[in-house]
Amino acid sequence: MVSPPFRSCVACRTSRPKRELIRVHLVPGGRLDVDLGGGSGRGAYVCPRHACLDQAVKRDEFARCLKVTLAPITVEALEGLIRERVSRKVAALLGLARRARKVASGTEAVESAVKHHSARLILSAADASANSVAKLRSLAAQVDVRWMQALGKEELGAALGGAPRACVAVTDPHFAGAVMSVLEKIPVKMETREAAGQATDLGGRAEPRKVWG
Ligand SMILES: [Zn+2]
Repeated sequence: MVSPPFRSCVACRTSRPKRELIRVHLVPGGRLDVDLGGGSGRGAYVCPRHACLDQAVKRDEFARCLKVTLAPITVEALEGLIRERVSRKVAALLGLARRARKVASGTEAVESAVKHHSARLILSAADASANSVAKLRSLAAQVDVRWMQALGKEELGAALGGAPRACVAVTDPHFAGAVMSVLEKIPVKMETREAAGQATDLGGRAEPRKVWG
């Protein structure tokens, strides 16, 4: 097997598969942008961890790595940009999965997908009710399917071309893997990541992760 391309984080210098890192690149105007698709050209890579992003911004590591002068950016703004790109990408993936008929949406359909062992990933909307979230998390844990939180109800519905949705099950392993790896790009605090398990562990563990939060 060919090993995946590795890159080093500009902050902690850890070498990791490229797809686990966030790629930052320069756009006109001397601003940074975030690329989740592993684009081409000169890019700087950073771990999806608050500590690494914070250090990279404070020490101006992106400018050093990209060999340019950058407009100042705060770590909050950079994390906001990452969350926005992640939301957009997740919505696009869910739209594709829907067209391929690889999603079930709404509580009943999600529960049915779980019952028929076809759910590969369960998503709750970030603004789903506490009740609904608790129910799905426990359901996911029972059947050892990964559970995550992403987008708002309106956005989930829009991604699926319909009314607001509190939850979605992705029923195809490839789409599920793609959505999970995009959601892994949301910066987390170290303690959260460790409590939740390894970033690279895409195995079926129910774990909390919010696009906003
Ligand atoms: Zn790092």
